[in-house]
Amino acid sequence: FKARVWELNNVPSVCPHCPVGCNIVIGERAGDIKRIMPRQNEWVNEIWMCDKGRFGHHFVRAEDRLTTPLIKGEDGQFREATWPEALDYVANRLSAVIATEGPLAVGGIAGGRAANEDLYLFVKLFRDVLGSPNIDHRIAWPVGTGIEQAVAEVGLTSESNLNALGKGATILMLGTDVNEAQPVTYLRVRKARRSGAHVVVAQARRVKEHAEATHTLDYRVGGEAHAVVALLKAVLARLDEPFGAYKKLDGKDDVLAALEALSQEDLLAQAGLTAEAVEAAAEAIASAEHLVVMVGREALVGAGVNATTLVDAVVALLTATGKAGQPNSGLVALWPHNNTQGANDMGVLPHLLPGYEPAEAIGADIDAMLTGAAGLKAMYIMAADPVRDRPSSRAVLENLDFLVVQDLFLTETAQLADVVLPAAAFAERDGTYTSYERRVQRFDEALEPPGDAMPDWWILAQLASRFDAAWPLYTLADDVMQEIAKQVKRYKKMTYDNLEGEPVVWSTTADRHHIYTGTATLNSWFGRQWEVEAEARRPKFALRWHDLQAVEDAEGFRVVPQTRLYDNGTLIRRSTLLDQRRARPEVVLSAADAERLGVQDGDVVRLVRDGVQVEAPARIGKGVQPGVVVVPVDVDGTEWNALTGGGLEAPVVRLEKGAQA
Ligand code: SF4
Repeated sequence: FKARVWELNNVPSVCPHCPVGCNIVIGERAGDIKRIMPRQNEWVNEIWMCDKGRFGHHFVRAEDRLTTPLIKGEDGQFREATWPEALDYVANRLSAVIATEGPLAVGGIAGGRAANEDLYLFVKLFRDVLGSPNIDHRIAWPVGTGIEQAVAEVGLTSESNLNALGKGATILMLGTDVNEAQPVTYLRVRKARRSGAHVVVAQARRVKEHAEATHTLDYRVGGEAHAVVALLKAVLARLDEPFGAYKKLDGKDDVLAALEALSQEDLLAQAGLTAEAVEAAAEAIASAEHLVVMVGREALVGAGVNATTLVDAVVALLTATGKAGQPNSGLVALWPHNNTQGANDMGVLPHLLPGYEPAEAIGADIDAMLTGAAGLKAMYIMAADPVRDRPSSRAVLENLDFLVVQDLFLTETAQLADVVLPAAAFAERDGTYTSYERRVQRFDEALEPPGDAMPDWWILAQLASRFDAAWPLYTLADDVMQEIAKQVKRYKKMTYDNLEGEPVVWSTTADRHHIYTGTATLNSWFGRQWEVEAEARRPKFALRWHDLQAVEDAEGFRVVPQTRLYDNGTLIRRSTLLDQRRARPEVVLSAADAERLGVQDGDVVRLVRDGVQVEAPARIGKGVQPGVVVVPVDVDGTEWNALTGGGLEAPVVRLEKGAQA
């Protein structure tokens, strides 16, 4: 630390590392970040923050930041270019692809670490200018579960405050490891537990949250959805009038009929749970005054083909108990990136427009784009590194006629690009992120970007101007936000001025209705939160239900992916102070399997799948189920990630003793 505290220029900002969105202060001096401190507020992080946020800022001034646009020559080497040259080149090449192959030959991926302003213009560029609906952000999240919409329907209301949870509340944590991925969430859960809340930890492996659990549902891997459905049935049996608060909710009779046809005994067997454990958790849920359901990636990945039913069951649980639309209750998706919620809100999705309006033109999703099924000829990738997250996409990206990558670094994906555009980091520009509670939070520029790096929104606007798009002249990020406030209903009334200080929460179904009818009154204590009458709280959507498929017994070991860093390390791994937190390959297995295979702690074991094999030290872990291996997924090494599913699947692998065992 080479500056005195009183010499620092303190700039309010928001942590860019996870969707909690801790409020921070950047201590800047001489164009460098000297320290990051938490910024006190009632709603988000009180005065807490974690080591990732405090020490994970070195990427901003990393020596390998991109400082100038790069164009790849015929010799395969990058050469530096000016902005006009690079943008003209991108526009010409994209136009050429569209002219010969049509707009659907172009696809875009924008990662959830970009700001709302960037994501909004990304969607506008694709849908309005290039004419392609092939856009997606779900690089680190399973596609097709419907959870984006579920959050918009039964997410926390604008009066909700996770910090206020205590006696009378039940928190159901499904497949989460928040202590690793979103540490301040763990502090909130712990605080709630100590204030009298029930905490139901539903997990396939031992996590730190077990220490805070009042109830545990240690389901078997693959039985995640069955566990939630069994829980739902047990809760419904305890309610005098299920869905009583929302009598007219479409689809509820179908859900009740589908549940009626399922045998609780079968569900428990598939989930690997005892009736006692489920009944006890159901009692805590049915009797709760407030109910928060946190869904982690592991739950959806483990559930596999049943992930959609798991989401259906969570929505049914929140509506059947009458908790949807109520303060301090609702669904929280523990998204992979700091602004995944914003990416959903801004419509970086092939089937939804900004603000969750259904799209007429439905595009290819990220799976179709990255497996080659979409047949794309050109791609534009912003703030995402698919080669690292999904190693099998390398061949598809290499085969494109044209690839543009816009990022802070020459990532593995950027190395394959024809043009690389240097973006400004969060501390070098203004913008907004939306947290997993749907709090829209403003952050301000604290220092200049290096070299010619520019904010993502600026780059996109400059590119659009080369297509003669009739876009307004955006000179500040605020200009883009003003348009968002007009075009995205759920962001209505938000301006940079009223986003200063207290964060604004956008509304779910219930209070959105309230705002639209214009009868909302400001609550003076919470400043920008809305008082909602009971009538307005009723959700306005149809319940969905997808049938459950039986859990198949695995011939081999099922992988449970364990996430540590979540942003695939692009930002965090540039902090030497956090090096000890980086995931390294290891295979955690049960004592029973270790004994059966003759494996000791520290022995090298081999994982084999589809002709690929990797070796790593074994560790005998407490609470690991027989037939399961727990592996970290954010490690360096594409073979490891490809074999273990990169956190997006729970594949079955063969486990053998390794060469040195
Ligand atoms: Fe940043 Fe998340 Fe840690 Fe808060 S909990 S400091 S948002 S990484």
